[in-house]
Amino acid sequence: MWESLNLKDVVTLARDPYPSIRQWTRDTGKKVVGSTIADVPQEVIHAYDLLPVTLLGTHKPLKKAASHLPDNACSLARSNLELALSYEGDLFSGFVLPQVCDTTQHLSDIWRISFPEKYVESYLAPRQADRPSAHYWVKEEIERLISSLGKWTGKTLSNDALAASIAIYNENRKILGELYEIKRNNPGTITNLEFFAMMKLSMQVDKAEFNKSLKAIKDGLKLEKSKSLTDIVLVGITCDPPEVFDIFDELKLNIVGDTLVDGTRYLRGAVSLDGNLVDALADRHFNLGFFSPIHDNVYKNFEEVKKLYYDMKASAIIYVHIEFCESQEYDLPDLKNAIKKEGIPMHVLDTEYQTVSLSHILTRAQAFFESLKGGAL
Ligand code: SF4
Repeated sequence: MWESLNLKDVVTLARDPYPSIRQWTRDTGKKVVGSTIADVPQEVIHAYDLLPVTLLGTHKPLKKAASHLPDNACSLARSNLELALSYEGDLFSGFVLPQVCDTTQHLSDIWRISFPEKYVESYLAPRQADRPSAHYWVKEEIERLISSLGKWTGKTLSNDALAASIAIYNENRKILGELYEIKRNNPGTITNLEFFAMMKLSMQVDKAEFNKSLKAIKDGLKLEKSKSLTDIVLVGITCDPPEVFDIFDELKLNIVGDTLVDGTRYLRGAVSLDGNLVDALADRHFNLGFFSPIHDNVYKNFEEVKKLYYDMKASAIIYVHIEFCESQEYDLPDLKNAIKKEGIPMHVLDTEYQTVSLSHILTRAQAFFESLKGGAL
């Protein structure tokens, strides 16, 4: 199903992977478990011979979610709930829902009530990652998830099955990392839209199959070095709709680094296959970098973004703000101030799931990059 895709297929499927997932479940008889972002150790779900699918909203209209959530709930939370309530709910046999912010904490109960016939489990990521007890917490949570999935599936997880799943995930992250390196060093070889479509699809389809496509795509690339592209760093949680990447391509921007959950935060940290695998999965959790809902050292956000900007020798930062994301609303003012003091050009781009018109995004981004010409660019 996903083992011989070219870049064009990947871009198309990343927009709506669900028909292909439906076909795949019919062909294989396997069950699908959805999880919202972020940081669920999906290797564990995969090791139970289930298909873990990261839920990244829907582009179809909102019909039911508004009656379950207040208007000021973040647009990603609304979009994901709509995806399950109105469009793809029957595809999923269960959900593992991380509680990373107040919105997701309340949401998990709404999902539980809305889908009483399905398996619904919470994954409680520690909100204070710099506490010494946080590692122990993550390990306990992973073990709790293993036990919960075991009860639901009636299976016992073997070390070999978990190791095999971790190896597939490590391979996926490795190939995507190599593709990112190619994109950085050979701007013009892969567009922003294509690269982030590969990232997104990796989080939603069977990786054992999709890794074959990614390898073939990588091996078949003709390296180009377009000098007219401007290197930028993308900061935020996710960036949607995909047409935003089209806008970056149109403006001749090359994303050379990012902090997205469906970007570098997914790629980071291969899980060690030596020693205790649950310990290794917990270790990875702490190598992922800053994430808005996690209350870490308050300066870490700025320091990481600043380092990324200088390491990548980027010309500017684009911050993707998801409408009504409470965590971002909290972080953004401090980040903006610190970045301004540092003298780094930054543009905040406001996005909303279900957005239909992007002309305002294009116009504002165009104006920002025009204003940089003769300056930083
Ligand atoms: S972190 Fe932000 S985008 Fe994610 S669920 Fe919470 S409020 Fe929504």
